[in-house]
Amino acid sequence: MCASNKQEAMNDDQDMRRSVEELRRTFKSGKTRSVDWRKEQLRAVLRFIQENEDTLFKLLQSELGKHPIESYRDEIGVVKKSANNALNCIDQWVSPKKGRLPLIFFPASRKVLPEPLGLVLIIGSWNFPISLTLDPLIGAISAGNTVVIKPSELSPNCASFLAQVLPSYLDRQAIKVIEGGREVANELLQYKWDKIFFTGSKKVGQIVMAAAANNLTPVTLELGGKCPAIFDILPNSVLKVAAKRVVSGKWGACAGQACIGIDYMLVEQKFASTLIEELKKTIKRFYGDDVKNLRNLAKIINKGHFDRLRSFLEDPAVANSIVYGGSFDETRLIIEPTILLDPPLDAEIMNEEIFGPLLPIITMDNIEDSIEFINSKPKPLALYAFTKNENFKKRILDETSSGSVTFNDTMVQFVCDDLPFGGVGQSGFGRYHGKYSFDTFSHEKAVLERSYYFELEPRHPPWSSFKLQF
Ligand code: NAD
Repeated sequence: MCASNKQEAMNDDQDMRRSVEELRRTFKSGKTRSVDWRKEQLRAVLRFIQENEDTLFKLLQSELGKHPIESYRDEIGVVKKSANNALNCIDQWVSPKKGRLPLIFFPASRKVLPEPLGLVLIIGSWNFPISLTLDPLIGAISAGNTVVIKPSELSPNCASFLAQVLPSYLDRQAIKVIEGGREVANELLQYKWDKIFFTGSKKVGQIVMAAAANNLTPVTLELGGKCPAIFDILPNSVLKVAAKRVVSGKWGACAGQACIGIDYMLVEQKFASTLIEELKKTIKRFYGDDVKNLRNLAKIINKGHFDRLRSFLEDPAVANSIVYGGSFDETRLIIEPTILLDPPLDAEIMNEEIFGPLLPIITMDNIEDSIEFINSKPKPLALYAFTKNENFKKRILDETSSGSVTFNDTMVQFVCDDLPFGGVGQSGFGRYHGKYSFDTFSHEKAVLERSYYFELEPRHPPWSSFKLQF
């Protein structure tokens, strides 16, 4: 490192330390505990989104190739919904929950009092750079914490916009955005936090958890994995709708670069050609069929990820299984929606998270065998099943484990504030959205108050055989 770079790094270190110390002081001052302060900050997040909507659309279009309607549905609209929901519910969330106590405690009262954790770190991912940073922020503010957001460096324009513009709306002494990549994230992880909320890969999740262990800091890990979609034989009356929901869920959210996007599908052998024909027709209608002129499809985030996805198809056995698509436009970083039928199960594409617009379809003799297939792999973040068979639905719920199960649709569980969003096993742990976000950034303090009105003497020594009778 040359002398000037060294000096810059030292200045950055000092700035980071000063920022963290300021946030600690702010939390200690008690100002973030005020419900009025929390509401003010939530309204400021809403104002930031509303006043900068057009700029955010442009940034998401240029950086990720997202159509503004997709950006509204998955990012801008999600943040507005969450902030409005928090504003509507916060008075109820912060109120202590009172309840009855067993007679043995008489006379006493009890309550569960939510309290803020303190200073929290939110590390974001690049595929939904606005919602995956601001949605957890809404939870952290609602719960009364001070916050550092570290957006992903892989969507640098969105990250810079957040760092430069968001603080002008918020209380800068309580909420900060720190830009940077792996080194900055690592530097941040050296500090003592009261909570780390991480969205990203399993590999980095392990690094975050190891760093958090040094201070016994609680973590929420929002990770990924391979999300399966089971597709049972469906009557013509619903097949078209089901196909639309699959195509939208697989390719319509950041071109498959989504943690809850379908990774692979399972279908009965005798139904595979019917399903594939319907998917092909739907893809053509939604996105077109000329790789140079595809519309409504996001781009791959960078050349590294583009090459990673292309390399999946370089295995000749995998390339031979392509039944639709398979073309690339390297200059625009676009990959055509691609369907593969029965690629080898030991191929990389069937063992790594795909995170892109490639969809392997695996056939089975009996669709109920999909349960065993799914259970042979790590627990997924989301499991989708298109079926009208109630017994099969019950078996799926009883015999598999996943962050969520959605029947007959895809992705919609993400926008439902009444459902917890999070993984299980290797897809992560902890949950957020709606009240779950508030809980994630709060500690539920148990409070019990006894009165002096009455004393149960047998609880105190000296012990005697008489007291043994109680
Ligand atoms: P990533 O793990 O590479 O990066 C995530 C964040 O970690 C970034 O902010 C990055 O700067 C930081 N980081 C990278 N290397 C680090 C290191 N060595 N030490 C500390 N921090 C480091 O993941 P990604 O490429 O941003 O996202 C893809 C993964 O995230 C996929 O597995 C996907 O399924 C998952 N994901 C999960 C969710 C969810 O809500 N569960 C949402 C989006 C993405």
